[in-house]
Amino acid sequence: FFLSMNSSRKDCIQKANRKISHDVYTPKMDAVEFRKRGKEMIDYVANYLENIEEMKVFPLVEPGYLHKLIPSEPPEKPEEWDDIMDDVDQVIMPGITHWHHPHFHAYFPAANSYAAMCGDILSGGIGCIGFTWASSPACTELEVVMMDWLAKMLQLPNEFLSDSGNGGGVIYNTCSEATLVALLAARNKAIESHCKVNSETNQYWVMSRLVGYYSDQAHSSVERAGLLSMIKMRSVKSTERRMRGNVLEEMIKEDLENGFYPFYCVATLGTTGSCAFDNLEEIGPLCKNYNLWLHVDAAYAGSAFICPEYRHLLNGIEYAMSFVFNPHKWLLVNFDCSAVWFKDSKFVVETFTVDPVYLKHKNEGKCPDFRHWHIQLGRRFRSLKIWFVLRLYGVDGMRKYIRNHIKLAHLFESLILADHRFEIVEEVIMGLVCFRLKGSNKRNEELYSRIENDGRIHIVTSIFPDEDILYLRFAVCYQFATEEHVKYAYGAISEVTDLMFEDPQYQTSDAGLNYN
Ligand code: PLP
Repeated sequence: FFLSMNSSRKDCIQKANRKISHDVYTPKMDAVEFRKRGKEMIDYVANYLENIEEMKVFPLVEPGYLHKLIPSEPPEKPEEWDDIMDDVDQVIMPGITHWHHPHFHAYFPAANSYAAMCGDILSGGIGCIGFTWASSPACTELEVVMMDWLAKMLQLPNEFLSDSGNGGGVIYNTCSEATLVALLAARNKAIESHCKVNSETNQYWVMSRLVGYYSDQAHSSVERAGLLSMIKMRSVKSTERRMRGNVLEEMIKEDLENGFYPFYCVATLGTTGSCAFDNLEEIGPLCKNYNLWLHVDAAYAGSAFICPEYRHLLNGIEYAMSFVFNPHKWLLVNFDCSAVWFKDSKFVVETFTVDPVYLKHKNEGKCPDFRHWHIQLGRRFRSLKIWFVLRLYGVDGMRKYIRNHIKLAHLFESLILADHRFEIVEEVIMGLVCFRLKGSNKRNEELYSRIENDGRIHIVTSIFPDEDILYLRFAVCYQFATEEHVKYAYGAISEVTDLMFEDPQYQTSDAGLNYN
């Protein structure tokens, strides 16, 4: 072949060859080795999760511990796999907070299942980047169907389904991203309509007059979306931790009188602090009357709406323009998997469309090109893990999983209520129990610090700032949680409380050792 080439082409190739180095790339793990090591890794993960209870749920390390255990420079020469895995045990595991430990009760659950992990392995193996339909048709099409499946499980209004015309769902990394994107889409919608009725105005002027609303109990990501987009967001003072229509309406009227343009409102179903629910049937009609884009954040609690007995908490969702919940919190699908729906995706698509030639394809318009639906371009094949989980468990299996957690939360609630030293500070509706020792915040801080030092369970505290009430949050998180785990947690809390009150040092610091 080389002989048959004309001499100028030969020259070019010889010149190019002289320029490139002849270091040969050899993969350090080939398919044979991958089969062996991959299987070992599966065993490692299964052993980790099976024996997790033997470890302390919260790590004992100090900040900066890891830095001291690994070199500050990357290795120049290849290392051995076994050495890497040894370091997983020596360096990584000591610094892990074990979210899937039976005695982990902090934050909200992080979903986890072997089925979802298998989906993630396959997604990693396929390794496609599904930014357009053409960049991997199955990646887009399975996502469309999975989002419809989830929407049907939650009984979302038909307008959110993919065959509704403009509606549809998409998988994001997080709820925070959904709240920001919804805000940006709402912003553009508002700018467009204001500019239409007033041709004298311009988009920057309208932007400076826009105002959005969220409850003072909403997740910090809502305030952050306002900061990131430089849009004014006002916090609505909650009443018993719920955003109420009358308070919201007063603020809207005040802003209108002052020449502002109300345009966006975020309602929360299951607040982070105490899992309180805003009433969509009250907020929704207001948003409709004042032409506000209603975005509903049900990050944690959304999963429970697959159970008919909790679906009423989602009533009023027909008023929402966008809705998000995190299957990666409570629906057995590992992080990251945040399910987002738009009633009219055109507002998002119009906000985000930039059309370089290299991303175009001949089938545009026949299926969504999800690159227009979010901030980043690249996206993983995340619908695989939803597909695996839904098929393996069935909706029925998932309902049983949710119901078990809620039942156990009520068990914990009843143990707390039976102990005269404690009180419950928020109605228990889902898998979260908010409780405290009767008495001062200081007393509760002391209890929390002793629970942390005791180390048998891991919980976190929170506060109702307006009421100045500090409390402890107990979330049922473990996938295979049982009554024994809940009783164990209550037992640990109760014992630590006994010891605290018996401690002479503590007694002198707490003047009111009286629980009533
Ligand atoms: N919204 C609510 C109500 C939450 O509880 C949380 C986190 O717990 C978030 C948003 C943030 O979730 P993400 O990490 O998906 O952004």
